Amino acid sequence: MILLKKANDLRNYIDSQRKNGKPIGFIPTMGALHQGHISLIEAAKSRNQLTVCSIFVNPTQFNDPSDFEKYPVTTDTDIAQLLAAGNDVLFLPELDEIYPAGIKPIRIYELGELETILEGKYRPGHFQGVCQVVHRLLDIVQPDLLFLGQKDYQQCMVISRLIELTGYADRITIQVCPTLREKDGLAMSSRNRRLSVKDRHTATTIFRTLSFIQQHLRPGDLTALHNKAVAALSAAGFRVDYVSISDARTLHPCTDWDGQQQLVALVAAFLDEVRLIDNLPLTNAIAASR
Ligand code: AMP
Repeated sequence: MILLKKANDLRNYIDSQRKNGKPIGFIPTMGALHQGHISLIEAAKSRNQLTVCSIFVNPTQFNDPSDFEKYPVTTDTDIAQLLAAGNDVLFLPELDEIYPAGIKPIRIYELGELETILEGKYRPGHFQGVCQVVHRLLDIVQPDLLFLGQKDYQQCMVISRLIELTGYADRITIQVCPTLREKDGLAMSSRNRRLSVKDRHTATTIFRTLSFIQQHLRPGDLTALHNKAVAALSAAGFRVDYVSISDARTLHPCTDWDGQQQLVALVAAFLDEVRLIDNLPLTNAIAASR
């Protein structure tokens, strides 16, 4: 594996590989890697890509400064995991490689309603920060395939929109990969390691609640099902930001299901200071695969 810290070095290396005919598969991350991240590397390798993984904890996407400060950094074990997975290139930039002009919004991305609902509503500015960093990374890497996890369902939709807004839609294909879970159902997440032993146990309620919604989904009014899900999380000790049974393509909440519409259930909730998100497609829909 080659480790590069400078954008120009990465650009040059990728260009040389592209000339050799290798398609470029890109996996952007914030590190503290777990098997969910590694599954994206494996997906890229199985599609014969030169795998380029970036690790950068992006300050502009943290609406809560203490969440940024507490974000786990485990670079040595990350590198060991990437080596074991056979990753080809690791991009590990410092702040000024990503924000050469300093941290300031250079442009506003028109994300429409995605920015005002669910994560957009509860984390103001978050998706602008995601777009800023992903746009910069795409400019540097210029991948053929971009690998994203369905764990961040709305983020997949935002990045799909970003690719349209930035004119990359003809050149970059998004591959959305399934959410990897622990044996007890908890979605793997870098934030899980911040949970106390007790909260780690309680955290399994999220997947149980999503599964409950899936099992009890029937055509008609969904209000009671939604309320039961919120009540189950609250009773377990969560501070719930939202539970939403949403249209799988638009994320509009669905309150009265016709039995046909593709749906996804999404949750964001705090245990103590740790905010967890998860989702479960209720029908056959897959997030914003392009
Ligand atoms: P992050 O490091 O949290 O920014 O995540 C980097 C990428 O890994 C994103 O595309 C995430 O959606 C994806 N990812 C995070 N957790 C999982 C998981 N449990 N299963 C699959 N992909 C994941």
